[in-house]
Amino acid sequence: MPVNKSRRAQLANARRNRKIEVFHKTRQILREENAKEQRIVVTPSTIVDICVSYDKSWMTRGHTSYMGLGCVIDVLTGLVIDHHVMSTFCHACATTGALIKSQQPQHFDAWMEEHKRQGCDKNFEDL
Ligand SMILES: [Zn+2]
Repeated sequence: MPVNKSRRAQLANARRNRKIEVFHKTRQILREENAKEQRIVVTPSTIVDICVSYDKSWMTRGHTSYMGLGCVIDVLTGLVIDHHVMSTFCHACATTGALIKSQQPQHFDAWMEEHKRQGCDKNFEDL
């Protein structure tokens, strides 16, 4: 059964709210656990130092993958506190963009500007 636009928007909104909720719970756990480890009393204004590690990975080796992921992990708890999905590919750019560029090059810059405003999937440049 196809999902209509309003249901899709509801799901996107629910996902965004859930993500914010999980972020706040994670932040609270990090503050409490790191404060315990450092033996400090935490108030809402206390800045708690944390130790993190960062790693990133691509789906395949050899610079051939379109997708990658970077994560920031709290060393004490092992919780992922931030992440970023990287993509070197955008289907709309590869299809519609390439078609406009080859057949109506005078419209390409305007199309690309609007496409980027709406959200191009490519957010990482090949090295
Ligand atoms: Zn794109």
